[in-house]
Amino acid sequence: MSLNGLNFYSYLSRIRLLKTYSSKIMLVAFLGTHVPLITLLLFFVISTAQDLQTALKILGIALVATLIGTFATLLALHKLLAPVVLTSKSLNRYLTEREIPNLPVSFDDEAGSLMADTVTTVRKLDELIHYMANYDGLSGLPNRDLFLEKLNFTLHELSIKEETLSFPIFSLEATHLKQIRSNFGIHMGDLYVRALVQKLENILGPETVLARTGDGELSFFPLSSSSQVLEFDSEHWAEKIQKTISSPLTVIDQQISSEIQIGISVFPYDGKSSDQLLWKSETALSQAKLSGNSKIQTYSSEWKERMKEKYLLEKDLKLAISKKQLFLQYQPRIEVQSGKKISAEALLRWNHPEYGIISPTIFVPIAEESGFIAEMGEWVFSKAMEDLGAWKKKGNPPIRISVNLSAKQLEDPNISKKILQVIEKNQLSVEDLELEITESSLITNMQSALEILGELHSWGISLALDDFGTGYSSLSYLSKIPLKTLKVDQSFVRKILTDPNSLAISKTIVALGKSLGLRITAEGVETEGQLQKIKDLGCDEAQGFLFSRPISLEELEKFVQV
Ligand code: C2E
Ligand code: CA
Ligand code: CA
Repeated sequence: MSLNGLNFYSYLSRIRLLKTYSSKIMLVAFLGTHVPLITLLLFFVISTAQDLQTALKILGIALVATLIGTFATLLALHKLLAPVVLTSKSLNRYLTEREIPNLPVSFDDEAGSLMADTVTTVRKLDELIHYMANYDGLSGLPNRDLFLEKLNFTLHELSIKEETLSFPIFSLEATHLKQIRSNFGIHMGDLYVRALVQKLENILGPETVLARTGDGELSFFPLSSSSQVLEFDSEHWAEKIQKTISSPLTVIDQQISSEIQIGISVFPYDGKSSDQLLWKSETALSQAKLSGNSKIQTYSSEWKERMKEKYLLEKDLKLAISKKQLFLQYQPRIEVQSGKKISAEALLRWNHPEYGIISPTIFVPIAEESGFIAEMGEWVFSKAMEDLGAWKKKGNPPIRISVNLSAKQLEDPNISKKILQVIEKNQLSVEDLELEITESSLITNMQSALEILGELHSWGISLALDDFGTGYSSLSYLSKIPLKTLKVDQSFVRKILTDPNSLAISKTIVALGKSLGLRITAEGVETEGQLQKIKDLGCDEAQGFLFSRPISLEELEKFVQV
């Protein structure tokens, strides 16, 4: 390191007796003022004194005067050095005890500004350290540690006041944050979080403690003394919040939305410490995410039982293929204008030895989570194609079979080759089948999914987008997928005659699909009235209990013949 004019200081520092800064200054001051003075005095006395006695007398007086002068100079210097010494001591105290320096700030020379600047710098530094340790840089909200601290403080205050109040703790997650980042970029993901926080802050107001407790996770609780969101209306409150912030947010002229799920725990029933309460609201949040269809979940011990059940099911499911407990049913579809039975959807079933037939809505998500959906999906596809091969060999009328592909299957880079091999093995043509994918399956790894779908499309395999309107519904990627069919989700069809919103959404989906040159299938048609309505709207195909429930291959043969 360059000494930048510190050579002399550095030289003096090597002298053991001059440890302190003041001793160095004083030595210099002493030598600088007294050596010339004493030399002068000696010279004067030796050259002018007539006798030794007078010389010694003069020398003695001069020496006493010099000593007094020295003492006074050193004392004054010592006092003048006080700002430096004080600053050094307070800095040291900040380093060891985090005590903010309390130095005078009104002097305006160099020593004064040393003290004033030290105070300002340390204060700012301390604020920064505090901020970095307690706040989240992206959202500006308190972080997890500070959230727990504030919750602790509130609980402590309640216990002091001996209040018997109960209040909820919410944990909320934007479950599509990862997908938003992979679709729109990391920066847009960050901006989305900020926009979400801002919206939430507006809804919650100042009487709520809000913090960023995870990547896409925000937690909050109402301050007990103020807006008393009591335990019994917490779900209602959460529902309102969930609805409001699920709607798309404008992030640099892009409309971005994510599914929002909320977990709730309640003080004091779910715990009396901040750790327990946050942990439980987060557990409830995972419950909401796992269950798939609930957006809001309150922590309850009942859930633990269900988790146990789920674990057991998972173990059984691993053996389901080898134990031949899986089978397929087919649900026919008709062409709306002609009434012809032209296609059918293959739907997976599990015949559990203990529980009987289990719905795919229960076991498909378990299989997806534990990773064996790939194997199961391949089994479904092979079985469906085998059935179709046998169907053709028997000389049955032509039928197109659609098979559902799970998101996880689209992560396998060899999936398209495997599909082609199965088609060839059963001597089928690509026109005989259709693959159904959902919007969510595209979101996780958009690029590779698009490559796979592009390949399948180039071989002539038709693709249908299932459950359209329920998920992400981003128009930007709709045009990127080589689709042939759009399936209007059954939740809209079910309410098409009774709910103006469902009708409006169905109309929009049909118009959108038509403008992109797609065929439209309506799912879940249960009544003649619904059929008439979707016919009027211009849907091409219909599927639902009105025509048939999912049935076996043999029943399907009979169904198409009548
Ligand atoms: P999905 O692909 O939307 O399948 C349509 C579901 O709606 C089927 O339920 C069908 O039985 C039901 N459905 C059809 N018409 C009506 C109707 O008129 N009214 C009512 N209320 N429901 C109707 P299912 O068979 O329980 O399948 C549920 C979901 O499980 C499927 O939804 C699909 O997402 C998944 N799934 C089924 N089989 C497979 C499969 O082989 N692989 C994958 N990955 N997922 C599958
Ligand atoms: Ca489907
Ligand atoms: Ca569907």
